[in-house]
Amino acid sequence: MSEQARRAGVVVVGGGLAGAMAAAHLARAGVPVIVFEQSLQPQPAVCGEFLSFEGAALVREIGADLPQEAHAIDTVAVHGPRHTLISRLPEGNLGVSRMRLDEALRLRAGQLGAVIHRGVTVHRLTPLDDSGTLVQTSGGDWQADAVIVATGKRDLRGVTARARTHEVVGVQLHVSVAPQVRVRMHSRVSLWVGEGAYGGVALVDDTTLNVSCVITPQAARTHGLCAADLMPALMQSHPAAARVLAEIVWPAVKMMAVAPVPYGYVRPVPPGAGLWCAGDQLAVIPSLTGDGMTMALASGRKAAMAIVEGWSAGPAVSRSRNVDARGLRGDRLRPAAERYHTDMVQACGRQVRVAVRLQQLFARPRVLDPMLRLGAWLPPVVPLLVRATRVPRALRAPAAPAACRVA
Ligand SMILES: Cc1cc2nc3c(=O)[nH]c(=O)nc-3n(C[C@H](O)[C@H](O)[C@H](O)COP(=O)(O)OP(=O)(O)OC[C@H]3O[C@@H](n4cnc5c(N)ncnc54)[C@H](O)[C@@H]3O)c2cc1C
Repeated sequence: MSEQARRAGVVVVGGGLAGAMAAAHLARAGVPVIVFEQSLQPQPAVCGEFLSFEGAALVREIGADLPQEAHAIDTVAVHGPRHTLISRLPEGNLGVSRMRLDEALRLRAGQLGAVIHRGVTVHRLTPLDDSGTLVQTSGGDWQADAVIVATGKRDLRGVTARARTHEVVGVQLHVSVAPQVRVRMHSRVSLWVGEGAYGGVALVDDTTLNVSCVITPQAARTHGLCAADLMPALMQSHPAAARVLAEIVWPAVKMMAVAPVPYGYVRPVPPGAGLWCAGDQLAVIPSLTGDGMTMALASGRKAAMAIVEGWSAGPAVSRSRNVDARGLRGDRLRPAAERYHTDMVQACGRQVRVAVRLQQLFARPRVLDPMLRLGAWLPPVVPLLVRATRVPRALRAPAAPAACRVA
């Protein structure tokens, strides 16, 4: 270990939704926390940007401002090749720009006392016997009592890589849309399903439409990532996409992409002693549920709460290099990390499994299509499926504001 390694209480790797949420809760409880976020400036993310009402409540709980431009969503439309099912959603869901939302959370975490280092990449984590973890960053070495891994889709050296489940590519683009498209998209998220691909669109402010799709690596290779080539090709192959995406003018710009996306992955144990995983590093729920952000927020919050509990419950440990007299030795926090992972798998495992089944159905539009037609006569089906894939009650903000309650 470098002689210069500085001491830290909790280090959070990644200042996205899970990381910023964890940092906010830790700082609010008085636990010293440092966040390393590799991006210097706010960045767009590959995401459908549909934030569930449960997710919005988690954001409000820490006092962060939801972007004012966010677009209220109360309807979901699922489009098969021939049939469409339209269903009401609980109130309080939002189409929201991730660039704005992530920044609002980081801002709030900073206001609450988290130290946020922007433009710093964590290169490697190494366990240090009983004295925490060595965190090697582009800005120097740190020794932390606990580390929350919240790097999203990116794997990190020193953290066991997640098993690959499906080889898919996620792509995303913001487009400015004409008034007639805006009217069609108002207050709704529209999903389209095709053989081996699906996608969604939702307004994230008055004029900007988020277009996101999950496609095969083969489709990405064949058509490239330029929106003007890829999107018309998808519309030609998938009738449902053609109906949803009609009248959109595709700019000749490269879409943002992420791959691989290990849908269905759930991490049952910490990847190393004293490491806590949150967000996509903990579990990757298929995007069609629109619940990945909420899961990231809820797991960041839960990891922080478990650390806070361990931090304040134990006796003060006197260590000459300790950052905080209340800090606990790594060996006391390690069992807590194991419990946290077990609890999270118990809480979210079923949701992820149901979502994977749903995704498999989405990949077979010919089977799904008649069900969509039938679904119109069976209104409870969609709410039931929606409920089965939501973050469980135990992980939600305790008292959602009235506007966020299920009608
Ligand atoms: C195509 C697609 C559509 C989706 N649509 C939706 C949707 O509509 N609704 C929804 O709820 N979810 C959706 N999701 C899922 C959602 O985007 C993710 O679940 C969510 O972003 C996970 O948050 P996170 O905080 O774990 O990771 P991220 O948001 O990816 O944040 C990770 C952060 O860590 C930083 N970082 C990474 N590595 C390092 C490092 N080594 N050092 C320092 N910093 C680092 C990154 O810069 C980033 O800021 C979608 C996903 C895909 C792929």
